[in-house]
Amino acid sequence: MFICECGGVLLVIGVETPPKHLSKQEKLIYKRVCDVECQKCGKIKYSQPYDNGTILNEVKKTKPLL
Ligand SMILES: [Zn+2]
Repeated sequence: MFICECGGVLLVIGVETPPKHLSKQEKLIYKRVCDVECQKCGKIKYSQPYDNGTILNEVKKTKPLL
């Protein structure tokens, strides 16, 4: 779960889709990023690590969930 600096809960609003050329195994270890939105202050953070806890700075395209 993600927590905003305001203390609100960040909900995932979009998750990156792994590249189509990857094999099933490669997709399993592929580190996706996601966009999250704070439910308290409404701030949106892009390209947050989704599959592990490492910090990513690279901006990747995400696919909206809604
Ligand atoms: Zn917030």
